Parts: sequence; structure tokens; C-alpha cells
Amino acid sequence: MKTINDINFENKKALIRVDFNVPLNDEFQVTDTTRIEAAKPTILKILEDGGSVILMSHLGRPNGVEDRFSLNHIVKVISDIIGVQVKFAHDCIGDDTENLADKLENGEILLLENLRFHPEEKAGDKNFAEKLSKLGDIYINDAFGTAHRAHASTTIIAQFFPENKYFGLLLAKEIESLNAVLSDSKKPVTAIIGGAKVSSKIDVIKNIIDKVDNIIIGGGMAYTFIKVKGGKIGDSICEDDKLDVAQDILNLAKQKKVRIHLPIDVIAADAFSEKANTQICPANDIPDGWQGLDAGPKTNVGFSFVIAESKTILWNGPIGVFEMEKFAKGTIELGNAIVDATADGAFSLVGGGDSVAAVKQFGFADKVSYVSTGGGAMLEMLEGKTLPGIEAIMK
Ligand code: AMP
Repeated sequence: MKTINDINFENKKALIRVDFNVPLNDEFQVTDTTRIEAAKPTILKILEDGGSVILMSHLGRPNGVEDRFSLNHIVKVISDIIGVQVKFAHDCIGDDTENLADKLENGEILLLENLRFHPEEKAGDKNFAEKLSKLGDIYINDAFGTAHRAHASTTIIAQFFPENKYFGLLLAKEIESLNAVLSDSKKPVTAIIGGAKVSSKIDVIKNIIDKVDNIIIGGGMAYTFIKVKGGKIGDSICEDDKLDVAQDILNLAKQKKVRIHLPIDVIAADAFSEKANTQICPANDIPDGWQGLDAGPKTNVGFSFVIAESKTILWNGPIGVFEMEKFAKGTIELGNAIVDATADGAFSLVGGGDSVAAVKQFGFADKVSYVSTGGGAMLEMLEGKTLPGIEAIMK
């Protein structure tokens, strides 16, 4: 894997695809700077080597040019985070932009306007990619969040830098962290798969089943499994058209000697609401009119025990409706167990979906080994797919 640590950027212009698709409030202030902070090590390495940086990103889903999606809104935040006054190009291609890039001096940063103001970006247009490529000497991809898209700036552009394309430090770290879980992992390996639906995680489970010792299945998707095992799940969320898939997964796990851990008790509610009445009941004996919305106390102890015994942990998806305080306990206890195991030397990766929101909300982010920055991209990697943005640098 060729990363930016393999070269020196003195007198070089680095064209970096970053993922600065950050959330903005009504006053166009950035409400979460995680993605900008995440690109900082790559940007600093180039500046410290004595090179210059040209940043390109998309922001939101604009329909043509729309001021509310202008990257101009985030110039100040980037300048503050990096500690260098960032210059801005009002279009990502064109003569004016080429001029600004030409004049850029070592130690300086130029941010290009939203790539998606041009429909050619998402279309993966080769001419557009070639125009972008003219701006820099070296292409770096550090945008994990879009690495699963074959867009002009994430994939197609790489062909114009056959000898001069590198992984940024963030993207390299994402790949390494996933490898630490799925290829070079210390056993026992435990994957926790939660979230609402089985259907969105089938391919993940099928891909990881060969690589793990335990799979903890929690959250809404557990009920399809509990039902196919003959349990009574009341009004809990269930995908009846996926019962056979759940059965296949259970059979496969048995054959491969992978232990599947399902909830044994749950917090059941008489409505999908913070105000609902609740009771603890066996996961396979939920009364009609009640739905399981969180893991129960015995389940939390059991899941925590499995996690404590693990040397490698992957967490994808909450195990209850953590957005409501009443049903957040299971997800919090699970997070605590992962934090404790990490403190004891386990490697823990959180990624691909709402579990990232949960670890941030409950303050676990700094206490696990790695929190992925890419939702969809991480899910596709867990499914065993080769991401086009990664492949384009490898080729
Ligand atoms: P995902 O995006 O697949 O990771 O799913 C996350 C969503 O699953 C969260 O919004 C949770 O509230 C939801 N969820 C977790 N457990 C349950 C449950 N028992 N019933 C319904 N939804 C759930």
C-alpha cells in the first residue's frame, strides 16, 4: 500500500480528495468538524515536507450551483483547524482555478469549490477528471466516506497519475483497521451486528462468518432470528421474507463452528415511544401488543462476557433504540464492555452505520481502538467488496 509517508512533498503540489461533506446549521456553521480533523495529519505532512495542498471535496447533494452547498462556508473552519489561512477557488476547474493552483506557493492551501456543482463528478466523467488532474503533481485519496463511489475525483482521476498516486493517512488507517479485524486478527474475534434490519446486513454477516469466532446479533434484526428459532416475538420488528436467510445464517454458523449469540431477554414496550410502558421479558416469549426495543439485563451480562473474552472486536449497529433514553441501556452497556476489553488489550473497531453515532453520543469514541469515518464505505468493505477508490490507487 503506497501511502504519503513513502515520499517527500518538497516543491510538490498535492491534489487531495478529502471528505469535507460536513453538517452545516442554518447559519452555515459547521456543527461537527470530525471529518476536517480527520484529514489534518495528511495535510500537515505535505506542508511540513515543504509542499502545497489543493483540497477537493463535495458537500451535500446540490442540484447544479447552489450557494447553500458552497465550500466557501467552511474556509474559516479549515483555516482554524490546520492553522494556515486557506485560499478558495470559486470553481473546481477552469482557467481561474488553474491560475490559482499555478501560483500556489509551498506551505499554502487552496480549497476548490464543491465538485458536485458539476454533474460530471458523480457521472465519473473522464474529461472532467482530466481537468482536475491538471491542478496538482501528485494525487492523494484521503476520502474514505466516498471511496465506494466511482466518481471523477475519487476514482477516475487516478489514471492521470499512474506513478504519482497515494493513499492519505486517514484512508490508510481505515484499511489497516479493517485488516486488523478481518485478516490479521488476534483470536477470539467477535463481531457485534445490530441495527434495524437483517436485510441491510446479510452480506456483511455472510462475509465475516469465515473470519470470526462469535457473532452477537442484537437490535431489531435479532427478532427475525428469534422467530425462525420458534420464539414468540409479539409485535417486535421482523422481516418475514428473510426468515429463510436467517435460518441459512444459523446453519452456516453451526457448520463453521461460529457461535451466534442472540438476546435472551429484552426490554419490551407497548408502543414505539419514549412514553411507552415497559417490561422485561424472555426474548422468545414477548406478549402480543409488545415489542422488544432494547436488550434485557441478562442479555447485557451475557454479551459483556463474550466481549470480555475477545481479543478483536468489530461493532456495527446499535443493539437497541438508543435514540430514546429508555432503550439505550443495552447499547451503553455493550459500549462499556468494548471499552473495558480495549483497555485490557483487545483491538476494537466501530464502523458502518448508527453505532458510530452511538459511540460519539455516549463518549466511547476515544476509548475504542478505531472509529471509522465512512458509513457506506465501511459496510461495503465488511461485505468483502473492493472499493473503486481504493482499487484505483492500488492499480
Ligand atoms: P442501522 O442503520 O441498520 O445500524 O440501524 C440503526 C437503527 O436501528 C437505529 O435507529 C435503532 O433505533 C434501530 N433499532 C435498534 N434496535 C431496534 C429494535 N429493537 N426495534 C426497532 N429498531 C431498532
